[in-house]
Amino acid sequence: MGKKAQTGKAKPKIDDNGVLIVPPPRTIANQDHFHRLNYLYQLSAYQTKLRAGAVKGHTPLARNYIKSMDLISKKTKTSLLPTLKRTICKRCHRLLWAPKRLEITRDGALAVVCGCGAVKRYNVAADADYKTYSEREGNLINP
Ligand SMILES: [Zn+2]
Repeated sequence: MGKKAQTGKAKPKIDDNGVLIVPPPRTIANQDHFHRLNYLYQLSAYQTKLRAGAVKGHTPLARNYIKSMDLISKKTKTSLLPTLKRTICKRCHRLLWAPKRLEITRDGALAVVCGCGAVKRYNVAADADYKTYSEREGNLINP
């Protein structure tokens, strides 16, 4: 009548803070979407690098690749790594490898000014050791 004892299963691991430790999954879901996003980013990087001496250093093709990458990530609900997002201008979809201007603001933030005039601010003075969730040790799955 009673349930059988589950002797085959391992006991769940709990760390010192009382957090349940769950092993990472063995495969990455929607891996083909990530391959496609990576490929589009590489194409854009290649076009940007290729045309570095051209007018404003960017081509419409490179911007179109980034725009497609952004649309695909939204449509497939796959998130880009913050390290990739930091290199993309949200307004004009350019790679911010050679920005128009770099400034240190009064409050110690780094302001990156794109060719379109959009400003990306990074608060580097607040916490120099800050890492995003994916940059922290053990949070990113390596295939
Ligand atoms: Zn821009």
